[in-house]
Amino acid sequence: MTAAPRIDLHTHSTASDGTLSPAELVRAAADAGLDVVALTDHDTTAGWEAAVRALPPGLTLIRGAELSCRWFGVEPAIPLHLLAYLFDPTEPELVAELARVRLARELRGERIVRLLQADGIEVSWREILAGAAGGTVGRPHIAQALIRAGLVATTSEAFGPDWLGERYRLPKEDIDVFRAVALVRAAGGVPVFAHPRATRRGRIVPDELIVALAAAGLAGLEADHEDHSPAERAHVRGLAAELGLLITGSSDFHGTHKTVRLGAHTTDPGAYERIVATASGVTPVASG
Ligand code: AMP
Ligand code: FE
Ligand code: FE
Ligand code: ZN
Repeated sequence: MTAAPRIDLHTHSTASDGTLSPAELVRAAADAGLDVVALTDHDTTAGWEAAVRALPPGLTLIRGAELSCRWFGVEPAIPLHLLAYLFDPTEPELVAELARVRLARELRGERIVRLLQADGIEVSWREILAGAAGGTVGRPHIAQALIRAGLVATTSEAFGPDWLGERYRLPKEDIDVFRAVALVRAAGGVPVFAHPRATRRGRIVPDELIVALAAAGLAGLEADHEDHSPAERAHVRGLAAELGLLITGSSDFHGTHKTVRLGAHTTDPGAYERIVATASGVTPVASG
């Protein structure tokens, strides 16, 4: 009998706010003993090709992304993350939305830097952009600048209320979550709500929204995640069972921007197979 495959469906590379390049990431995934890894950079598919090229034998790559979304059902609207797996990366409307969000992230990053500078904090937008190296820019890149400037010691500290968590936090221009679910489905992809109960990141959406999203085409919920307490994981599981949604578990690995390790949480093979069977955009890739 062989051991159950180890499946991690949520990771980031330098194509967004991770610290390993896509090639380094797939090698690290193999070294960590994973059988399947999904590359899910924020609002981009830019890392896919390099990950495919560097794919080590024995590892299957699920091409994906994590879309910056917002639920406009309350005021102020609540930001949330939607994982999207195996969608067609050339679907024009989805491509346009992702490009729009990435551009808005740059404008917002620059505005955050101006706010910091107005308070006499010396961080350079040019340096932060260089740090993102062409990948999707996010607050973790600004956090790195705060660390370099000696203002905070860690990324978590940079996300505290005095810094990027509140005082210098500006909203992004996210995709309406119902539109995102529809676009991912139209591109043959499988949408899964990332860390839906992560209260430590900010406000969370009510269960009624998850019910509505399930009716609108949401396929699953990420249950096992670093930012969920045991009670939150159990709640997500219960909700998924009620709504017929699949559940995933994943590391949300970001390299040294976070402490979590590849494979820290994993997805059951049954749920993984359901994702693959549902998808019609692109296929999983295994090196030959
Ligand atoms: P942004 O997408 O620019 O709003 O930044 C959000 C990103 O910052 C998330 O995808 C995480 O990678 C990271 N992040 C959010 N909250 C924290 C936190 N409390 N500590 C460390 N990193 C965080
Ligand atoms: Fe991130
Ligand atoms: Fe996320
Ligand atoms: Zn993530």
